[in-house]
Amino acid sequence: TNDELSRWDRESLFHPSTNLGQFARGEGPQRIIAGAEGVHIIDRDGNRLLDGFAGLYCVNAGYGRTEIAEAIAAQARELAYYHAYAGHGSEASITLAKMVMDRAPKHMARVYFGLGGSDANETNVKLVWYYNNIRGLPQKKKIISRWRGYHGSGLMTGSLTGLELFHKKFDLPLAQVIHTEAPYYYRRKDAGMSEEQFSAHCAEELERLIAAEGADTIAAFIGEPVLGTGGIVPPPRGYWDAIQKVLARHDILLIADEVVTGFGRLGSMFGSDHYGMTPDIITCAKGLTSAYAPLSGSIVGQKVWDVLMQGTDEHGVLGHGWTYSAHPIGAAAGIANLRLIDELGLVENAGRVGRYLNDRMRGALGDHPNVGEIRGEGMLCAVELVRDRDTRGFFDPAEGIGGKVVAAMLRRGVIARAMPQGDIIGLAPPLCLTEAEAEVIVDATAEALRETLG
Ligand code: PLP
Repeated sequence: TNDELSRWDRESLFHPSTNLGQFARGEGPQRIIAGAEGVHIIDRDGNRLLDGFAGLYCVNAGYGRTEIAEAIAAQARELAYYHAYAGHGSEASITLAKMVMDRAPKHMARVYFGLGGSDANETNVKLVWYYNNIRGLPQKKKIISRWRGYHGSGLMTGSLTGLELFHKKFDLPLAQVIHTEAPYYYRRKDAGMSEEQFSAHCAEELERLIAAEGADTIAAFIGEPVLGTGGIVPPPRGYWDAIQKVLARHDILLIADEVVTGFGRLGSMFGSDHYGMTPDIITCAKGLTSAYAPLSGSIVGQKVWDVLMQGTDEHGVLGHGWTYSAHPIGAAAGIANLRLIDELGLVENAGRVGRYLNDRMRGALGDHPNVGEIRGEGMLCAVELVRDRDTRGFFDPAEGIGGKVVAAMLRRGVIARAMPQGDIIGLAPPLCLTEAEAEVIVDATAEALRETLG
């Protein structure tokens, strides 16, 4: 029964990103998901909810895709597992690698498969360090990340993540990680700055940080094309161009963390295509399999690949691997998922319906006195709430306004996410969303806002 499951859960399990004591005492939210279909999830009480966040921006193809489920089952029957060490492979992982490279920007050379976004970024940092060790630059190791960036919650990746919650009480960030300003135009200090001026300012800040630390100590810069968990913040005009020029001047690699943006979310196959970035490494996960099975990718550019190859020729095998690297079941899910994305035109749909969602949201809520900004790109949309529009003043965090609006949306059958810093309502629906479903999201947001703030 539901009651029994809830009790077992409280007594036996602990959950990620959850207030543990509160939950164990039975005060926390409790929802047991039983099934899902299209853009909806269904819980054991029979509630049908429109998932406006695609799980954790990952179920890009939508729920209940039998093509992916059947590919997973067929792979499990045929070859559930064999490791990928020492050049072993499966038909599925090799085929998926070919499909990923066919879709990746042209200068990318190879892909390494892991399990999730965090471990892929751990891999990327190790590859960057290895790269500099092979080049005889062992002191060039620091990684620059942005405040509000999200790159995972391991020791290194939690350090890269620029959100206080992920550092507090964990003795993070690690010493090799330094943070620079977020490209958060709405929150710029100088209100008179244009987007281009603010981008130039961010590049100058980066330049100052590099000068202070010493370029010979810095290996890489990591950034999401669009800041995701830090508030769904698309970059101001000219940002990536300005940043890349600084990095190129100082021999600093660029890691584009495309865990959210990879495989279509912005209406382009990769965020790097979308913003004209030429990263040295691309991180991908979520959308690679639409979360039907865990799988991530570290896509390495030719420049890095050439050095890695040379290094392992001289020094032996690459001392880095997981038991489940290139897992055949994840790979089978990835193949079926990427085929479906092509067949259904989901990248194009993400651009078109995403624009519709953002436009409709602006139309419905743009004039509300507590809506500071509505921003988005592709199938990403954020509504930033403020106490005062003119001063962009925050609500008292103790009021939990963002959480209240999201709860009011849930009562109307729509799942949104209260982003972890500031009162920001985040939306990242499956890429198969229709215009009619976008309307349901907009109506629920508008009604929830009125209920909470008048
Ligand atoms: N990078 C980005 C941009 C993410 O949004 C996330 C997760 O949300 C990660 C990395 C970490 O991925 P995972 O949770 O699969 O470890």
